[in-house]
Amino acid sequence: MKTAKKTKGKIIIDRELCKGCRYCVVSCPEKALAIENIFNEMGYFPAFFEHPDRCTGCAICAQICPDIAIEVWRE
Ligand code: SF4
Ligand code: SF4
Repeated sequence: MKTAKKTKGKIIIDRELCKGCRYCVVSCPEKALAIENIFNEMGYFPAFFEHPDRCTGCAICAQICPDIAIEVWRE
């Protein structure tokens, strides 16, 4: 039986634009994102791409980010 191939995605987070609101972390259906424990230059704990293997490139994280800090690429 054939199974549908899952799309692979990759994101890039600009950690200096991120204000650590966590919207992307809670919105990612694959739980691919987390929050760093090192401040960025603005004094926020930014989001990072913790599980790249899980990303499907759905772009929900980029759409929800109020600071346009996330770029999404799909394979
Ligand atoms: S593109 Fe989709 S799966 Fe990938 S990190 Fe963003 S919300 Fe998660
Ligand atoms: S939604 Fe944007 S600003 Fe908020 S934590 Fe994610 S990358 Fe940072």
